[in-house]
Order: sequence, then C-alpha cells, then structure tokens
Amino acid sequence: MRKLLIALLALPLAAIAGDKDAKKRDFAKTVRLQGTVVCLGCELEKDGADAQCTLHAKHAQGLRDADGNLWSFVDNLRGHGLVTGESLRGREIRLRCWTFPKARFVEAWQYEVKDGDAWVQWSYCRDCGWEKGDYGDTDLCGDCKE
Ligand SMILES: [Zn+2]
Ligand SMILES: [Zn+2]
Repeated sequence: MRKLLIALLALPLAAIAGDKDAKKRDFAKTVRLQGTVVCLGCELEKDGADAQCTLHAKHAQGLRDADGNLWSFVDNLRGHGLVTGESLRGREIRLRCWTFPKARFVEAWQYEVKDGDAWVQWSYCRDCGWEKGDYGDTDLCGDCKE
C-alpha cells in the first residue's frame, strides 16, 4: 500500500519534470529551421499585443518560419548574437539548431544567411564570436584550436 502511494505521488512529478534523458548539445537531435529574422515584439504588435518593444526588450529578435510561426532564440552565448544582431533583421537564415516546440524556443548552433542565391555559413567560436565559416560540431575556429 505504501509503495503504491509513493508511486501515485511520484507520477505527477515525473510528468512535469520533462525528459530526464535529455542532454545538452545532443548533435543527433539538431534540425534545420529556415525563416526570417524578425523583431518579436514588433511582430506581436501586428497581432494586437502592446509589446512595448523599446521599453525593455529593445527589439529582441526571433525567427518567423515558413508557416508564419514565431520562434524565440535561447539567449545564450550563441543566441545573444541572433537576438541582438540588427544586421540580421529581415534576412533569411537557415539555422542548425535544437527546437523546443512546446515553448517555441530554438537553441542555435550555426546558421547560414541567404545572400542572393548563395547561403553563407556562420559558426560560433567561443573566443572570437560569430564568424563566417563552418566549425562543425566544435566551438573553436581554426586559429583558436591550435
Ligand atoms: Zn521591435
Ligand atoms: Zn576563434
């Protein structure tokens, strides 16, 4: 009886605790997501939100995918450049990322920017920041690796 009670109590906790097997940076789970970098607040204003974009969020950017869904970037070391990089606003990009669909958040790993007909690859070096190039699954550019 006692065991059953504990099991019953533990059940809802397990249900809200998320996927306990989820681990960070599982490259097998990265996906490609294409869309346009937009200011999330300004997009929400169009739908009637009083986003007050200039007050706190300072035009924090996210991604609008082909279906019109808005995604927020996880604002970590990599994501911050996407959230704040004004030169990316309005540009079409293709992210290599992890998606968290319930929250509509994406954690960026790399991205490509559409430039005319070409896609230009950008990667993140933890010493140099975002740079053009492809560092694969590493977080250091060629110069910093040596
Ligand atoms: Zn805005
Ligand atoms: Zn570097």
